[in-house]
Amino acid sequence: MQHTKSKALYEEAVKYIPGGVNSPVRAFKAVGMEPIFIEKGEGSKITDVDGNTYIDYICSWGPLLFGHGSPDILEGIQEQLLKGTSYGAPTAIEVEMAKLIVEAYEGIDEVRMVSSGTEATMSALRVARGYTGKNKIVKFEGCYHGHSDALLVKSGSGTLTFGVPTSPGVPADVVKHTLVCEYNNQEAVKALFEEHGEDIACVIVETVSGNMGLVPGKKEFLEYLREVTKAYNSLLIFDEVITGFRLGYGSSPEYFGVVPDMACFGKIIGGGLPVGAYGGRKDIMEIVSPCGPVYQAGTLSGNPLAMYVGKKTLEKLKNNPGIYKELEQKASYLAQGIRNNLKALDLELTVTQVGSLVCLFFTSGKIESYEDVKDCDLEKFNKYYKAMLERGILMGPAQFEALFLSTAHTKEDLDVTLKANYEALKVAYNK
Ligand code: PMP
Repeated sequence: MQHTKSKALYEEAVKYIPGGVNSPVRAFKAVGMEPIFIEKGEGSKITDVDGNTYIDYICSWGPLLFGHGSPDILEGIQEQLLKGTSYGAPTAIEVEMAKLIVEAYEGIDEVRMVSSGTEATMSALRVARGYTGKNKIVKFEGCYHGHSDALLVKSGSGTLTFGVPTSPGVPADVVKHTLVCEYNNQEAVKALFEEHGEDIACVIVETVSGNMGLVPGKKEFLEYLREVTKAYNSLLIFDEVITGFRLGYGSSPEYFGVVPDMACFGKIIGGGLPVGAYGGRKDIMEIVSPCGPVYQAGTLSGNPLAMYVGKKTLEKLKNNPGIYKELEQKASYLAQGIRNNLKALDLELTVTQVGSLVCLFFTSGKIESYEDVKDCDLEKFNKYYKAMLERGILMGPAQFEALFLSTAHTKEDLDVTLKANYEALKVAYNK
C-alpha cells in the first residue's frame, strides 16, 4: 500500500498547520505513522489521496451514523445552500430541530444549538454554575468533554494518547474547581460529595465512555449519580456528544432509565456538519441569555446547512426505529467475531461493545475505568493497527478510541474486517 501523495501533502501541511493536522488524533502519531489524507468517502468506505480504499470505522469520529454521503440525508441540501449559508437571524429549521431533540430526550424542555461538542459542554457548565450558584464540577478520569479549560483535566481521547492529562496553558486557578473521580466508582463520588457537596454545581459524565477505548457506565453508577446530585442540589449533566441518538433515539435516558438535568450533544445531530447543542429543564435553560443573565452566544450557531442535515438525520432515525436494532446486531456480530478470533489464537484480550460501538483492548480482565485500560499493550496495538490498515481497515489511530459502526457497513464489510482482524492479531503476536 503506497502513501506517496499523503506523505507529500503531510510535508506541505506541517509547514502551515501545527503537526500538519487540525485535530491531534488525526496525526497517527500514537501508532507511529504519518497521517493519511482523504480524497472521498462513500457509504462505509473511505479513499485516500493515493487511491487506497478502506472500510471506515472512524466515520468522522461518530457523526456518520449512515456512513459517508448518505443520499437521502443530503437530498435537497443544494436548495438550502442556494438560499444562503448563514444569516445570523433565526430560521424555521432551528425550531424544528430543537423540537425534535426535546421530544426525543426525556428531561429536556429547551435546547440551545452551538457549533461543537466542546462549546456544548463548556456552556452547560456555565449554566450549571449560574443556576446553582456553586463553583465546583465533578468529572471522571478518562472521560473527554472537549478542550475547554475546566474540563481538560485527566480527560480521554487524544489527551490519553499523548499523555497530557492537563494541558499547559490551563491556569491552576481555573481547574481548582474541577474535581476528578474514578469512573464507575460510586464510593469515590460519595466521598467527594461528603467533602465538597455544598459547593458542587454539577457532575458531568459520559454514560458510555468512548474516549478511553469503550468503557460502559454501569446502570447502578448512573443511578447513584442521579441520587447524589439530587440530594445536594447539584445538576447531573450527561455528555451525549458520542452517545446521543446512537444508543437509541431516546439516547441515555431511554437506554439506562436515568434522566439527567441537562444534556450535551454533537456529532450525530449534525450528521457530519459542525454542530453541538446543550439542553435542560425549562427552569434551568431559562437562565440563559436573552431570557436570563448567563451569557452564551455564537455567530454560526444553528447554521442552516448544519440544521438541514441534522434535521434529516433525526427524522430518518425517528421514522426508522429498527435502525438501532440493525446497528446493534452488526456491532455484536463484529465483537463476537473478534472474540472468536482471540479464542482461536489463544489470546486473552477484552472486547467491549455497546450499541454500535466496539473496542478491542490490548489487555485482559474487566474494563470499568481508566485504571483498567491504562496498562494496554500499546506496542502490540500499534503492530495490530498497521497490519489492519494494510488490509484496508481504517480505525481511529490509537488504542483509546472506539470503532464506530454505521448502517452503511455491510455483512461483507464485517467479514472482511474479521478476516483482517485474525491476520493482524497473528502479526502483532507473532503467531
Ligand atoms: N464530549 C465527548 C463525549 C466527545 O467525545 C467529544 C469529542 N470527541 C466532545 C465532547 C467534544 O466535541 P467536539 O470535538 O465537537 O468539540
